[in-house]
Amino acid sequence: MRVAIVGGGMAGLAAARQLADDGADVVLLEGSSRLGGKLLLGEVGGLSLDLGAESILARRPEGLDLMHAVGLDDRVVNPRTSDAAIWTHGSLRAMPPTVMGIPASAELNGIAEVTPHVVDVPEADVSVAEFVSARLGADVVDRLVEPLLGGVYAGHADQLSLQATAPQIAALGSDLLAGATKARAEAAASGPVFAGLVGGVGQLPDAVAAGIEVRLDATVREVARTNDGWRISVGPTTDVEVIDVDAVVVAAPAPAAARLLAEVAPDAAFALAAIDYASVALVTYVFDDGPSFEGSGFLVPPVDGTFIKAATISSNKWGWVADTGRTVIRASVGRAGEATLLQSDDTDLTARALADLRTAFGGLPDPLDSLVQRWGGGLPQYAVGHLDRVDTIERDIATVPGLEVCGAAYRGVGIPAVIASGQAAARRLLGGTMAS
Ligand SMILES: Cc1cc2nc3c(=O)[nH]c(=O)nc-3n(C[C@H](O)[C@H](O)[C@H](O)COP(=O)(O)OP(=O)(O)OC[C@H]3O[C@@H](n4cnc5c(N)ncnc54)[C@H](O)[C@@H]3O)c2cc1C
Repeated sequence: MRVAIVGGGMAGLAAARQLADDGADVVLLEGSSRLGGKLLLGEVGGLSLDLGAESILARRPEGLDLMHAVGLDDRVVNPRTSDAAIWTHGSLRAMPPTVMGIPASAELNGIAEVTPHVVDVPEADVSVAEFVSARLGADVVDRLVEPLLGGVYAGHADQLSLQATAPQIAALGSDLLAGATKARAEAAASGPVFAGLVGGVGQLPDAVAAGIEVRLDATVREVARTNDGWRISVGPTTDVEVIDVDAVVVAAPAPAAARLLAEVAPDAAFALAAIDYASVALVTYVFDDGPSFEGSGFLVPPVDGTFIKAATISSNKWGWVADTGRTVIRASVGRAGEATLLQSDDTDLTARALADLRTAFGGLPDPLDSLVQRWGGGLPQYAVGHLDRVDTIERDIATVPGLEVCGAAYRGVGIPAVIASGQAAARRLLGGTMAS
């Protein structure tokens, strides 16, 4: 069976790897000039660093298993520290133990006021803010939950779906404080939460693609059904090439997937077109000396009105970055609906983010080098009701033989989640083919 994969991010790569390992003849079509999507290595101040995603959740197996399968085992590392801070009320305050921002104790280092109420968990989906504020008060939403959701989804707690973005909060039950205390105690026994690769997780895409037929600069314009399979139109509109295959996996983000599926799966396309994305930018600075702060970084509640929403001290977090002898700090800017914030040029963005870092840390030297990496449409926003939307998409796709979708738009944005989504799409395709 010949299968085309549309999109060479981690979801498409995981689907391609799974299909190739199971004996399919795979061609992976990537619109840009490189593989990896949101995973990207680049050079700043002479150092090779991750400019996009930089860690994977180690509590799910798919990311670590794939690293193992492609021979990167000896590069897998855990962060040197997971101590983080919240920059609020004018100072950096140690992050208390939480479950996605739900405190495991009422002692919060002056970060937020907790007003606990025991309220049953509703069956219907609600926003994360609505759920948490009814049980712990708005201050916990503003100063703990909002910055954590901002870090993962670049979204807003009053719009994001509880069931799709924070099922672990819903699972804490009607007494959130008690639930979080219990969950933290259980989690403490189960090892490191995150992992990375010496040299950066940006090495993963090429390793996964080894041995797979990859076509770069191959934007897919159209996928159309033929009598016995699919015809894929690829390349510039002035010079379109067609590729005939037996099946296709669309692993592109929702806006592109919606366009490609408009004819062949209109209900899915309609639902995909409704998924919003947040744009973010990461500014990476290399210094020859850094702050005395020893944690992995800090998050900032949007209510505090700063330019940056978070910072990671990569040289505190990762041993391989510390070994360079430089201090490396990444500041992140931008949440859903804040596109205007990113409209300033790189010089302005770099200066404004640096000013925030200097205030937070109480001073920093001039950087040796810096780089702005923009991620336009970087993160899908799972709005309230998102899982119903995904059910609609999956139902429609299931009616079309030889078609699958996967990626961050559906059931999780993290790297292990998108790998799982790619592998599941591949398995459904092979299962369907074998059954027919
Ligand atoms: C700044 C940032 C930092 C992040 N940090 C982390 C982190 O530390 N850990 C973590 O787990 N997750 C992180 N994430 C989330 C995670 O990296 C992404 O959700 C995930 O990598 C998305 O994978 P994907 O394959 O679904 O999509 P993408 O990575 O977006 O890949 C889709 C690919 O499809 C291609 N494409 C689009 N249209 C077409 C077309 N018509 N034809 C051909 N190709 C097409 C695109 O060029 C792209 O390469 C981060 C995300 C961002 C934006």
